[in-house]
Amino acid sequence: MSSKVKVSRTMELEFGGLLGALLLPALLPCTMLYLLIACRSEAASVLSVSFPLPAMGQLWDPQALLLVLAWLGFQGLLYLLPLGKVTQGMPLHDGTRLSYRINGLHALVITALLAAVGISCGLRLSYVHDRCIQLSVAATIASFVLSAFLYTRSLFVPESALAPGGNSGNLVYDFFIGHELNPRIGTFDLKYFCELRPGLIGWLIIDLAMLMKEWETQGSPSLAMLLVNAFQLLYVLDALWHEEAVLTTMDIVNDGFGFMLAFGDLSWVPFTYSLQAHFLVGHPQELPIPAVVTIVLLNALGYYIFRSANSQKNTFRRNPSDPRVAGLETIPTATGRQLLVSGWWGLVRHPNYLGDLVMALAWSLPCGVAHALPYFYVTYFTALLIHREARDEHQCRKKYGSAWNAYCSRVPYRIFPYLY
Ligand code: NDP
Repeated sequence: MSSKVKVSRTMELEFGGLLGALLLPALLPCTMLYLLIACRSEAASVLSVSFPLPAMGQLWDPQALLLVLAWLGFQGLLYLLPLGKVTQGMPLHDGTRLSYRINGLHALVITALLAAVGISCGLRLSYVHDRCIQLSVAATIASFVLSAFLYTRSLFVPESALAPGGNSGNLVYDFFIGHELNPRIGTFDLKYFCELRPGLIGWLIIDLAMLMKEWETQGSPSLAMLLVNAFQLLYVLDALWHEEAVLTTMDIVNDGFGFMLAFGDLSWVPFTYSLQAHFLVGHPQELPIPAVVTIVLLNALGYYIFRSANSQKNTFRRNPSDPRVAGLETIPTATGRQLLVSGWWGLVRHPNYLGDLVMALAWSLPCGVAHALPYFYVTYFTALLIHREARDEHQCRKKYGSAWNAYCSRVPYRIFPYLY
């Protein structure tokens, strides 16, 4: 990128501004730990964690840290393998584009094959269940160290390499939100690597470890556990199959790489998204067949909405004359790009979020309705997507002006038809 292009100062601070940036790095890891401890207690109650809490010394395990570092190193090596195609990202401020290797699915397949070989040779994957808290603490330490490294190196890069949203000049805020847009060591893109691989594949490994633990303790995996594993496997497979789509997301295009994404990718996603499987190990559920059928249908409906909405927009953005989208109604904008106002994007302004939330509900239902804890994901995810929708809306209004207002009046609901 040309070092002459300057990124203007960030004036609008997000996530509660400076206060949010100060509190969230403490609050998020504590929430994650609290949920994990609650999940392992007999009551599994979000309101009353059973005592005694693990002593601070028990949270720290050097072996867990070594394992997390080995995992990151292993996924890093897979990322470097010359497998899969190399594609171009979205244009940067100066019009240049970065190259990205699309081999996340290869990384998943190789990891799955090695895990299968390991298990058949006697590897006790249930260790991940037993030391889950220590592993989550180790992953959090790794996220903090990575964020400190990212912020330090961002002080030495040309101003043109900074993120438009992470250039406030305030150390705390820029550390949290991410100061540099695309930190790279050679061709190794740190943000792109963390976005889909160690966390998403790690999430599946944790799910599988919970299944193995249940197998060990109860003699066989339950139907509820198999459903949670299968649904989340489908979700991660889908994300890696469509890995190229991540290059157009807010995370890659706008957001810098700082604590928010580093902690989210390396700790929060694998350890809190696997809470349902974790919960089932200590709180087995009997699911009647009609409930199984309903949950499977609900997940299929959510996936159908999520996938068709995302594919419709991606196809349209790549080639508006594609016969699959050419018949859809559109609104022109001053930028030359168009906005879809029929099809999925005419139903609500974020149909893909709607599908994602329907799936999130289907992932919690196998855990029964007696506990609130396995519903943490769908509750948190609703809040996250409502907030993300507002951030995206703000960006789109800046980008498209009156055309965006016209779209909003044609499509008044944001995520839930006739509700919100
Ligand atoms: P989206 O895929 O929803 O993309 C938003 C962008 O789409 C807008 O900025 C705009 O960009 C374009 N757009 C908006 N409306 C229209 C329209 N009517 N016609 C054409 N283009 C339009 O962004 P996200 O990155 O938020 O989500 C991607 C997927 O990832 C979603 O399915 C979401 O559910 C999922 N997700 C999952 C998370 C998880 O933790 N599991 C976290 C976050 C997201 P432009 O006009 O510039 O193309």
